[in-house]
Amino acid sequence: MKTIAVFTSGGDSPGMNACVRAVVRTALSKELKVFGIRYGYEGMIEGDMVEMDASSVANIIHRGGTILKTARSKRFMTIEGRQQAKAELEKRGIEGVVAIGGDGTFRGAVVFSEICPIPFIGCPGTIDNDLAGTDYTIGFDTAINTAVEAVDRIRDTAESHNRVFIVEVMGRDAGLIALYSGIGSGAEGILIPESPNDLQVVLNRLANSRSGKQSKIIVVAEGDEAGGAFKVGDAVKANFPELDVRVTVLGHIQRGGAPTCMERVNASRMGYAAVDALLNGQSHEMVGIINNKIAFTPFKDAVKHILEPDKALLRMVSVLAR
Ligand code: ATP
Repeated sequence: MKTIAVFTSGGDSPGMNACVRAVVRTALSKELKVFGIRYGYEGMIEGDMVEMDASSVANIIHRGGTILKTARSKRFMTIEGRQQAKAELEKRGIEGVVAIGGDGTFRGAVVFSEICPIPFIGCPGTIDNDLAGTDYTIGFDTAINTAVEAVDRIRDTAESHNRVFIVEVMGRDAGLIALYSGIGSGAEGILIPESPNDLQVVLNRLANSRSGKQSKIIVVAEGDEAGGAFKVGDAVKANFPELDVRVTVLGHIQRGGAPTCMERVNASRMGYAAVDALLNGQSHEMVGIINNKIAFTPFKDAVKHILEPDKALLRMVSVLAR
C-alpha cells in the first residue's frame, strides 16, 4: 500500500481533527502518501481531495469541527455517484481509506464495497456514543463536558431565583449525553428515550423533594418519549403551578468547542490504529476502544444500538437527587 485517504462524514464532532491529524502523521511515518477528502462522500464524488503533509494538520488537535469539512451526500446513495467516487479514488492511486463518521458512513462504505474493492477502516465520530463496538465515540466526552458546564451556569441563576429549569440536550435516539451530563451536574431529574415513563418518576420526585430546596434542574434528551423540554416544562407547570419553570435548549453548542484531553487522546489512538489496520490488510472494520484497549468491529455490526438503560446508574440518580 502506497497511498491512502482520510475523510470525515455525517455530523461533525469535536475530536475529529485530532483523529485526522493522527491518520495523516501515522501514514507519513510509514512513508505513505495521504490525501484528505473534503466534504465526506460528496467530495469523493467531486474529486475534492488534497494531498496532506505534516504541516497540513499542524495546530488542529485543539480545534472542534473538522478541517476536512463534512457533508451528507445524496449522490453517494446512487450507483452513478458511487461509480464516480470509485473513479476519483482510482485516478489518484488510493488503495485504502480511513472514514471518520457514524453508522451511516459505515453503511455507505459497505454498499460501496459491492463495486469498489478498496479497503476502508472506520473511526467512530459522533457525539451520541451510541455505536456498538466501542465504549467511546469521538465527540461524546467533549459534548458531556460542554453540557455540564452549561447546566452549572443555569444552576447559578436557578438558585438565585428559586426556579426549576428544564434543560434539553442532544440525543434523538440515545440518552447518554443526558444521563452523563445530568449525573455530572447533580440534576434532580433525567429523562432519556431508553427509559419509558420516566416523566412520572421525575414528577413524583418533585412532589417529594426536600423542603427548602432552592433550585431544581431536569435534564431531558431531545428524543425523550415525553416530547422534549417544552412538553416536559408544560407537564411540570400543570402539576406544580406554584413553581417558576424555565426551559433551555442547549442545541448545537454541544457540537462545537475545543475537544477535551480525553477526546484528543482517544481520537489520536483510533486514527493511529486505523492506519495500522489498513497496512495489516484489514478492511471494513471500525476501530473502537473497549476496556481501554483498541478493538475492531466489522462495519455491519458497528450499528447504532439502543442501550438498555443502566439500571444501576438510574438507581443511583434516584438516591443522589434529593
Ligand atoms: P451521524 O451519526 O452524525 O448522523 P452518520 O455517518 O451516521 O453520522 P449519515 O448522514 O447517516 O451520517 O451518513 C453519512 C453519509 O453516508 C450519507 O450522507 C450518505 O452519503 C452515506 N450513506 C449512508 N447510508 C448509505 C447507504 N445505505 N448507501 C450509500 N450511502 C450511504
